[in-house]
Amino acid sequence: MSAAANVIYMDNNATTRVAPEVLETMMPYFSDLYGNPSSMHVFGGQVGKVVENARAQVAGLLNADPSEIIFTSCGTESDSTAILSALQTQSDKRHIVTTRVEHPAVKNLCESLDSLTGHKHRVTQLPVASDGTIDLQRFEDSLGVETAIVSVMWANNETGVIFPIEEMVQIAKDRGVLFHTDAVQAVGKIPIDLSKVPVDFLSLSGHKLHAPKGVGVLYVRKRTPFVPFVIGGHQEHGRRGGTENVSSIIGLGKACELAADHITKENTTVRALRDKLEEGLMERIPSALLNGHKTMRLPNTSNISFEYVEGEAILLHMDRFGICASSGSACTSGSLEPSHVLRAMGVPFTAAHGSIRFSLSVYNNEDEVDFVLDKMPGIIANLREMSPFWKNR
Ligand code: PLP
Repeated sequence: MSAAANVIYMDNNATTRVAPEVLETMMPYFSDLYGNPSSMHVFGGQVGKVVENARAQVAGLLNADPSEIIFTSCGTESDSTAILSALQTQSDKRHIVTTRVEHPAVKNLCESLDSLTGHKHRVTQLPVASDGTIDLQRFEDSLGVETAIVSVMWANNETGVIFPIEEMVQIAKDRGVLFHTDAVQAVGKIPIDLSKVPVDFLSLSGHKLHAPKGVGVLYVRKRTPFVPFVIGGHQEHGRRGGTENVSSIIGLGKACELAADHITKENTTVRALRDKLEEGLMERIPSALLNGHKTMRLPNTSNISFEYVEGEAILLHMDRFGICASSGSACTSGSLEPSHVLRAMGVPFTAAHGSIRFSLSVYNNEDEVDFVLDKMPGIIANLREMSPFWKNR
């Protein structure tokens, strides 16, 4: 079992456990070291130095310069800041290129731009293939002189599919278009070297890599035109107003330091556990289909559709055994619409409804995988017994 008693936690793309080392590093900043990093006195100044150390730790993970790191409140704020900044600094350009499978943090923002800004925008949402991958030629063809920014996620939160960001940035750069990537799911799971991948903006979020919730980062490459989103005091070198979330920033710095080790484990131990789980489920359960490219995928994520059963019902039954995962079908506003990601991939209705996302972490172990493999076939078989769709398939 994971650290939290009685829970087998396989929902790490939703949020992660704060690493014990991270928590330990944060604790003094809730008690003795409560100074404001902006204060003139030494008491606050020492906290300011630790915030700068955290900035260097984040920069280290991305192979970036600390001056390129802006602390924010979450991945969503980072996404909004990047996109709105690009539109404000290039007011003559009103076209955005993104994909149909972005997280709502990008998707809903792009769809709200007209009402938000009072200007008309054109948003190209690129389609994906049935395995969740993107067509690079189509991407290139979508760029025009009026394109202000490309915003494409590094890895998809539902399927784990990794986009070829390095190639896409090169194409955008050749056309002089700014590039933002939502790397919230990628950072800490796969290596990212921004000295080799010249994105202009990158978003990450603390709670996806074993730091606390409520802290994020926007990376802004040197010389990229930038205007702040949160306007106020001079914090973050005038690029994001508001007194810093000191303890969480320090926790995020520590998490980025740990991530070097975690990335190795994610790509060896966690990948092996994920593969064992995935292969075991597909072997033991008939009509189980993998959603997403087999290899171009985060090492921790497996999204499997169990045909003719309802994802939410599966989750409820899993929950009775303490197994935590997510479903790609959510009962929103009374309609049982499968997720926009699975719809964009053209996953048939009967399969999209029964999709379950397992997302593992370095804190999972083989016993947990064995337990899930033991319980899942019975859960699916019982639900199928009750499903008229399974009987009439
Ligand atoms: N982008 C992606 C790909 C995500 O998976 C998430 C969270 O699930 C976000 C953005 C939003 O991050 P936050 O919860 O820090 O706002």
